[in-house]
Amino acid sequence: MDFGATLCTRSRPGCARCPFSGDCAAHRDGRSAELPAPRPARALPERSCLLLWLEDAQGRIALPRREGPGVWRGLWSLPEAADARQADAWLRVNLRIEAARVERLPAFLHVFSHYRLQIQPLRVAPVEALPSVSESEGPRWFERAELAGLGLPAPVRRLLDSNP
Ligand code: SF4
Repeated sequence: MDFGATLCTRSRPGCARCPFSGDCAAHRDGRSAELPAPRPARALPERSCLLLWLEDAQGRIALPRREGPGVWRGLWSLPEAADARQADAWLRVNLRIEAARVERLPAFLHVFSHYRLQIQPLRVAPVEALPSVSESEGPRWFERAELAGLGLPAPVRRLLDSNP
């Protein structure tokens, strides 16, 4: 018999029928309705990243397709960097930008089942969409109107939708 599932259930323990009631501390103390206490919520590890919102003079947004492992694989997303140095390197390599006007947008938290991600969006605009950057290696530029038809990670879509 699965005792916990049939007799000593969390919401309605059957103490009157229970063969262990004589030895049960919860029953003795009149606390059978409260015990066992629910497990404390597991503290999720926290990570952080920068998301680069790159916009050209026509208002198009640069989105690379996520490759490799990761929860957003196959989705179009804003370029991600671990820190400012990596963000600078990404801009240099992919768009040949040395210095750009960067606006820090409000940071926000996105909670996955196994970790919490603190996201700091950086808006860089206007940037020049260089024709020499091949689509297979760099981001593609999308009009705002095209975003609705794309597979985007939920927090990226929320971010783009909330900032016209
Ligand atoms: S007596 Fe104790 S073990 Fe038995 S059902 Fe009640 S709370 Fe559960």
